[in-house]
Amino acid sequence: MLYSNLFTRTRKQAPKDEVTVNAKLLVQAGFVSKLMAGVYSFLPLGLRVLRKIENIIREEMDVIGGQEVYLPALHPAENWKTTSGWDKIDVLFKIKSRTGKDYALGQSHEEVITPLVKEYVRSYKDLPIYVYQIQSKYRDELRAKSGILRGKEFGMKDMYSFDLNQADFLKFYKQAKKAYLKVFQRCGLTAKVTEASGGDFSQKISYEFMVLTKAGEDDILYCDKCEYCINLDIAKTKAGDKCPKCQIGRLIKARASEVGNVFDLGSKYSKDFNFYVLDEKGKKVYPIMGCYGIGVTRLLGVIVEKYHDEKGIVWPKTVSPFQIHLVSLGDDNKVKNKALRVYQELLGKGIEVIWDDREKVSAGEKLAEADLLGVPIRLVISDKTKDKIEYRERESKKIKLLSSAEILASL
Ligand SMILES: [Zn+2]
Repeated sequence: MLYSNLFTRTRKQAPKDEVTVNAKLLVQAGFVSKLMAGVYSFLPLGLRVLRKIENIIREEMDVIGGQEVYLPALHPAENWKTTSGWDKIDVLFKIKSRTGKDYALGQSHEEVITPLVKEYVRSYKDLPIYVYQIQSKYRDELRAKSGILRGKEFGMKDMYSFDLNQADFLKFYKQAKKAYLKVFQRCGLTAKVTEASGGDFSQKISYEFMVLTKAGEDDILYCDKCEYCINLDIAKTKAGDKCPKCQIGRLIKARASEVGNVFDLGSKYSKDFNFYVLDEKGKKVYPIMGCYGIGVTRLLGVIVEKYHDEKGIVWPKTVSPFQIHLVSLGDDNKVKNKALRVYQELLGKGIEVIWDDREKVSAGEKLAEADLLGVPIRLVISDKTKDKIEYRERESKKIKLLSSAEILASL
């Protein structure tokens, strides 16, 4: 992509009305734009990152047998009345049409997926089924203040499992947990899994996937020796205590952001929608459901919270909007022609590159913007670099002078 074609601009200063690092940097660098509190537009650079995160999630969900669908965001009120969600969920966005009909904007999709799967499933032989989607969700939040970490409209991956019994659900949960940890790892994050009490309707346990960050909204206690982790809200233990699981490690208190969760829904929704299958003996069985969420836009914000420095964002390679940020300095024709050659060579190799080809923009400005945008590798071509190219890693700040052939070989 040519920088000169990009319709967005970076800002000299971080926006004053944003408090969190993720919002300050993402708005300043032109990745997102705030429409109102808790609602953000994704701009070309931000959308490229979001799509990469979504594709990582998609690949891992497909590996464990997920089938992707795309469900409506606008739901008839009846479905929510069937499950009592209409009256019990205070963050549910409710809409009245001009004909006086009531609708809800989805904050989750059990109310849509359960009757949908019911249409197609008759026998126990049709189970298990794992269905997921990546879609916008809506919550009538009173305080939306952490940039894209807590919004009124946000991107979410939600998967629903339908199993014949609890043992099958637990078996699948273990697979889903592994897939989740892999998703977060591929995004450059280490997640800890807490067991927490359920949400509004969960009859059983729920699991939260937490990433340590100062911008988080939860306090957790985790063991320095084993996997044990618990949300401080419900913990009977405190920081410094001996780990109740391994009896060896000590508990450490940390601020964390919830990037994923799993709810064991039991047969709550299958019973509400009278969705049953007949087992081998012809007996009615209500499927056990699980709900598995990943906050996709939140995940993007958490990555920025973890990967930045005083100059800007430092994207992990796996989710960076581009692999290379090519900068040509000066308006000398020789420099420009060389940059064009390198740009075309990189494109020809299938490498994602943004070329700052703008004229009459100072070297200082171009380099500062490259730091702010946070692409992992910066290549600079100027009359000073002669027949070489300056190669610099955003993270390590290591600078090398290489030929274009050496750079192509290193990629
Ligand atoms: Zn432990």
